[in-house]
Amino acid sequence: MKERCIAIVLAAGQGKRMGGTVHKQYLDLGGKPILAHTLKVFEDSDLIDEVLLVTGADERGWVRKTIVENYGFRKVTEIISGGKERYDSVWNGLQNIDQREEKENTYVFIHDGARPFVNDVMLQRAYKEVRQSKACVVGMPVKDTIRIVNENLEAEETPERKRLWMVQTPQAFHASLIIEAYRKMMVVQHDHVTDDAMAVELMMQHPVKMVEGSYENIKITNIYIMTNNNRTIHYIKITNMYITRDCACPLYDISSSNNKCFFINHFKGWINYIWKIYFFIGN
Ligand code: C5P
Repeated sequence: MKERCIAIVLAAGQGKRMGGTVHKQYLDLGGKPILAHTLKVFEDSDLIDEVLLVTGADERGWVRKTIVENYGFRKVTEIISGGKERYDSVWNGLQNIDQREEKENTYVFIHDGARPFVNDVMLQRAYKEVRQSKACVVGMPVKDTIRIVNENLEAEETPERKRLWMVQTPQAFHASLIIEAYRKMMVVQHDHVTDDAMAVELMMQHPVKMVEGSYENIKITNIYIMTNNNRTIHYIKITNMYITRDCACPLYDISSSNNKCFFINHFKGWINYIWKIYFFIGN
């Protein structure tokens, strides 16, 4: 039987860390919702057979129309209601796969919808590794020194930097392994489990390999709200983002209806987006 690769794209977050009611996955990035950028990568990848999209229960109809149908994402076969926490949303997606006959020949790629800069190279690397070791996560070595501090903020330990990686998504697993890990996890105390790799390590005692992602594969988490002449302007700040896709520039005004990109504050970004400034002035 042919192997299947199913992506679970998570977009049921409420944007709590962004401080408000803004759902970061729907914010505009260069004229398109962040989630649409993310889904396009999976849609265009030869590797991915199917996408299960997990969103807020009452957003499903809107997402189907505005994102899935509007951008023609044919690989999105299901729009599943998410849960309270990220792991609840993942579990809802996994239960859909659990009911399928082809489970033994399936790899699952779990990805945060708020990471639009994933690319096919990462997916291919993850696929190569997951076929060998059944479990891997995309990530990058940390560039800064990391200190572990006590409750008084005194440094207690400085781990060796070359062994520290920051974890990103996609996280890829053999379907049975990740489903079993979650099945076990959901019946025990699991509030401390922050990603899927942890679930596999803790519940299945199965090692999880790191594969190289990209420093650009960030999760969009910051929003800045400023007031200008009594008009509130919302900014998404995409940290460390200089030259990535043709759609991305560091700061976007998401409050204006015409998606005017009016402020570019990173020098490196200037060269890349000069055409864009002309475009917007011209319009
Ligand atoms: O909240 P956090 O930044 O960890 O979210 C990571 C990803 O998981 C986001 O794409 C978010 O939409 C998704 N998520 C979800 N269900 C939740 C919480 C987060 O699908 N309950």
